[in-house]
Amino acid sequence: MKYLPEHIVGTLQSMFWLRLLLVLVLPGIWTPACADILSADPRVGQYMVGSRLQYLEDVNSKLAIRDVVSPYWQNKFRPNHRDVPNFGFTQSSYWFKLSLSNPASTPEAWILEARYPMLDRVDAYLVRKGVVVGHKVNGDLLPFNQREFKHRHLGFKLDLAAYDQLDVYLRVKTESSLQLPLQLLTPEHFLERDQAELYLLGLYYGVLLAMLAYNLLIYSAIRDINYLHYVHYLAGYAMFQLSLNGLTLQYLWPQHPAWGNTATPFFIGVAFLGAVTFARSFLHLKTQAPLLDSIGKLLWGVFLFVIVGSLWLPYPLMIQLATMAALATAVYAFFSGLVVWRGQLRQARYFLLAWSALLIGIMLYSLKTFNLLPSMFITEYSLQIGSALEVLLLSFALAHRMKILQLDYTRIQEEAKGQLEQRVSQRTAELDEALKKLSDANSKLRSLNFTDGLTGVRNRRYFDQKLRKEWERAQRGGYFITVMLIDLDFFKKINDTYGHLAGDMCLKSVSLAIKTALKRPCDIVARYGGEEFVVILPLTDEAGALHIAESIRQEVAALAIVYEGWRINLTTSIGLCTAKPDETLNPSDLISAADAALYKAKHNGRNQVQTAEPGQTPAGLPETAASVAGH
Ligand code: GH3
Ligand code: MG
Ligand code: MG
Repeated sequence: MKYLPEHIVGTLQSMFWLRLLLVLVLPGIWTPACADILSADPRVGQYMVGSRLQYLEDVNSKLAIRDVVSPYWQNKFRPNHRDVPNFGFTQSSYWFKLSLSNPASTPEAWILEARYPMLDRVDAYLVRKGVVVGHKVNGDLLPFNQREFKHRHLGFKLDLAAYDQLDVYLRVKTESSLQLPLQLLTPEHFLERDQAELYLLGLYYGVLLAMLAYNLLIYSAIRDINYLHYVHYLAGYAMFQLSLNGLTLQYLWPQHPAWGNTATPFFIGVAFLGAVTFARSFLHLKTQAPLLDSIGKLLWGVFLFVIVGSLWLPYPLMIQLATMAALATAVYAFFSGLVVWRGQLRQARYFLLAWSALLIGIMLYSLKTFNLLPSMFITEYSLQIGSALEVLLLSFALAHRMKILQLDYTRIQEEAKGQLEQRVSQRTAELDEALKKLSDANSKLRSLNFTDGLTGVRNRRYFDQKLRKEWERAQRGGYFITVMLIDLDFFKKINDTYGHLAGDMCLKSVSLAIKTALKRPCDIVARYGGEEFVVILPLTDEAGALHIAESIRQEVAALAIVYEGWRINLTTSIGLCTAKPDETLNPSDLISAADAALYKAKHNGRNQVQTAEPGQTPAGLPETAASVAGH
């Protein structure tokens, strides 16, 4: 891991902002490094050779190595100003010259490594004392297995003899941006540093792969389309990065370098098509920010064009369009996140943060690509760092969104529950009210059912039920019970004389009179039929019953009924029977006996009270009595 800390320290030491200022504002003051001979000491083991380079632009790509070594062209070489020569997108070929010497008395092997794998073709010419002694070719337009040095970067093996001196000329021609981060390392140093780098790359792609698999699984479980858009973006982005690192060419399609070049803009298109879709869907741009949604559609179209166009149209055009559109998309996603977040959509927060991370990464990388920033650890790995942070934060944004949805769901459920409870209690109250009304009506109906319409006393049906109950009660307790039948005397005559309405009035007065005569709450009077009333006297023996009957008779006789100026006098005949219920008797025996007593009273001249023994019946009376009674 030696390489990494050195770079971080180196980065800090180089005072990034000061250098940025110098590169951007005062390029002239940044003095060119002295282009002398590099004495390659194996004990140092590794050199950034950028500042030792001289370069020559070959605008028409006409020059051959024999031209370049001629004094005329040698004079045209310029010292390189930067650690990493960077000429952006250019049609020209560039020649770089590096002069090496071996100070050791032993032969030494070195690796000259161009750390930018996108270069189409790099020719390395080895020249000793003006004579070309070797020619090697590398570049991503060669099938991978034709590389002398099989590595994702473009490497050349250099063998220096003892006290050797060697000029290395690199001719670079590429449709990608032309930059040459060049290092010279011993194989040992190369191995050490490569291990550290592979470790980092493995970590990076591990994160992407884990996020991809994890979110794909989540998608398959919950079928939320946002996860699929995210996975789409992630997969495309991973492929783009792999091709940028030269790994797709090394492992996926080593035999198809042309496609390997095309793949870069192609996967940028695929990735950011997914990014735009994800942003639009995740942030609900259609409703939250329709204008941004329309811009999203436009970008979507651009990436579709990039995807298709990269297969047919010139690479430099497509890669530049793709890079620009990707940059625009990062800005777009960031801005959309900002707008929607400020519009109170909570899930936009981590989305915004995620895109800020990538945006910073892309900006640093783009500035480096367009030669506005120097190449260093942060700029070189800015895409990886930014995008790793981004995918982590986006995945977190999705999880956070789930939490928000869950909270919303719980809140809605609770509200619904509250509303439901309120409605239920409201309905219950209404129902209770209705039930109460119903039961009131019911008891009113029941009492109506047991009430005589004319007089307001109990009716015959009530009497029948009540008699049975009182009979049983008396039977259980061994008490007396009395039934009394009260019949108005010559009532037909009253009807005939004064009319039925007068008769009705009399019946009402009589019922009141009877009630007045009854003192105990358990005594019951009912209208038995026509002008007959019946009275139950529980717990009453014959003597007591006679007393009550007599007072009824007197009450009725004392009634002063006046109808339309007529004074009506009434009398009653009363028959009663008292018994202690036992197995030999039943309630109807009591009624029959009371009836018999009533016959007796009628027979004996009316307006009197008579008693009868239980079991006595009207049929048992003399014929005359029945006929006089009119029954
Ligand atoms: P008695 O002394 O023998 O009982 O003579 P009575 O006229 O009362 O004879 P009876 O019991 O046979 O007559 C019953 C009469 O009571 C017939 C009817 O005119 C009258 N009546 C029965 N029910 C009603 C009623 O609801 N209203 C009125 N106004 N009269 C009734
Ligand atoms: Mg009668
Ligand atoms: Mg009568």
